[in-house]
Amino acid sequence: MKYTVNEGCIGCGACEATCPEIFFINDEGVAEARDIDVTSELAESAEEAMDGCPVGVIEQI
Ligand code: SF4
Repeated sequence: MKYTVNEGCIGCGACEATCPEIFFINDEGVAEARDIDVTSELAESAEEAMDGCPVGVIEQI
């Protein structure tokens, strides 16, 4: 399982704060998800980041 950040990110930084192993704010000021498989140890914080996104642009792929 992986995550992606769709268009519409407002760069609030919440996902990075919740799950920095996967999400980071790029040079353009929007979030990106690292292209890594989400391990079971990361699954909980990744899901929390997805649920906590105020504009709902994080998606599981
Ligand atoms: S929580 Fe959502 S809006 Fe905020 S930086 Fe992450 S993807 Fe963007």
